[in-house]
Amino acid sequence: MLKPVHAPQTQFPIHDGCLLVGGIALTRLAQRVGSTPFYAYDRVLLSARVAQLRAALPPEMCLHYSIKANPMPALVQHMAGLVDGFDVASGRELRCALDTGLVPEHISFAGPGKTDAELAQAIAAQVLIHIESVSELERLDRLATVTGYLPRVVVRVNPDFELKSSGMKMAGGARQFGIDAELVPEVLRWIGSLNLDFYGLQIFCGSQNLKSAAIVEAQTQTFQLAIELAQHAPRALRFLNIGGGFGIPYFPGELPLDLDPITRNLQHWMPLITAALPQARVVLELGRYLVGEAGIYVAKVIDRKESRGQTFIVTDGGMHHHLAASGNLGQVIRKNYPVAVGNKMNAAEREFSSVVGPLCTPLDLLADQMELAKAQTGDLIVVFQSGAYGLTASPVDFLGHARAVEILV
Ligand SMILES: *Cc1c(COP(=O)(O)O)cnc(C)c1O
Repeated sequence: MLKPVHAPQTQFPIHDGCLLVGGIALTRLAQRVGSTPFYAYDRVLLSARVAQLRAALPPEMCLHYSIKANPMPALVQHMAGLVDGFDVASGRELRCALDTGLVPEHISFAGPGKTDAELAQAIAAQVLIHIESVSELERLDRLATVTGYLPRVVVRVNPDFELKSSGMKMAGGARQFGIDAELVPEVLRWIGSLNLDFYGLQIFCGSQNLKSAAIVEAQTQTFQLAIELAQHAPRALRFLNIGGGFGIPYFPGELPLDLDPITRNLQHWMPLITAALPQARVVLELGRYLVGEAGIYVAKVIDRKESRGQTFIVTDGGMHHHLAASGNLGQVIRKNYPVAVGNKMNAAEREFSSVVGPLCTPLDLLADQMELAKAQTGDLIVVFQSGAYGLTASPVDFLGHARAVEILV
């Protein structure tokens, strides 16, 4: 198989040289939105991704969507019809999840630093509360007594292994997330003496991983650890969240995740888990993988200028709407996201140019010296792979420019 030079963007067809989003030409879509910049998410692509993933997963396995990847209410509502549950990480995300009508038992609230107000909100809502520390458990127990409700509790475990080659590691070693695995047996015994409704365990290791072998290894270790820890639980596990970490290709040379080895490993483990933990709903939680490739960010060209032999395409969008594409959301080495001139997809006239935004900082860069169609004022620059960690992961008030619009097509 030939390695593609650019990350694949074939999910959006081209007609008459113009990108189609939800079957609508990008130029027309921009008129329909009424302003630039904007994010557009394609509901058919969202549905197709979930369907493709479901076909690869054992049927008894549940799929959760992590709202933090993209909390746009219309998109979350669309996802509610596709997945089995949601993961939220704040009181606001919790309200967003509840608005969809999904049953509270299928909504999980994880994250360090949950305030008393958020915990009280989660208790009242009857969602599963993922405990990140011993003191959080103490606070929850106190709040439960005050409210008189019985909180549904999941213990988040910080395992002693990690998800290798992840874009972001979130477990193994010392972490702000979860309770260290070696302390969990004692905590589980203690939970048995508290007035809490114990549901199960969450073991989440990392994010943005494109190596199936690393995911398979972490899933195997996760299942082994879950079976071991379950022996110390105050009652049979009704819930086991094995994390996710599935990545999407962003940069030249990156290939889509090969699901086949993951499918085989899950097919091997699910009967064993069903035997060991017969009451447990086994959940895979994913954000980026479900929504990332279904979204684009679109900005209009305001100016083009030459400076000492280099061409700059200046747009009305930039890092204030799309921090990740500018390379400033945790990347160690800046690489170009897949970018194109959306209304000139087949243009023969091409050039090397840098796409920049309107902010007064050199960090406001959407494409650095990239080969693109020759863009003029009014053309539409498209950043692909923008459906996850886009607008809400960006410093939208930095320099006080207009907000970007979001649409679901
Ligand atoms: C962020 C996060 C996710 C989603 O990660 P993706 O890489 O977007 O799939 C899932 N679970 C937890 C606990 C998270 O913190």
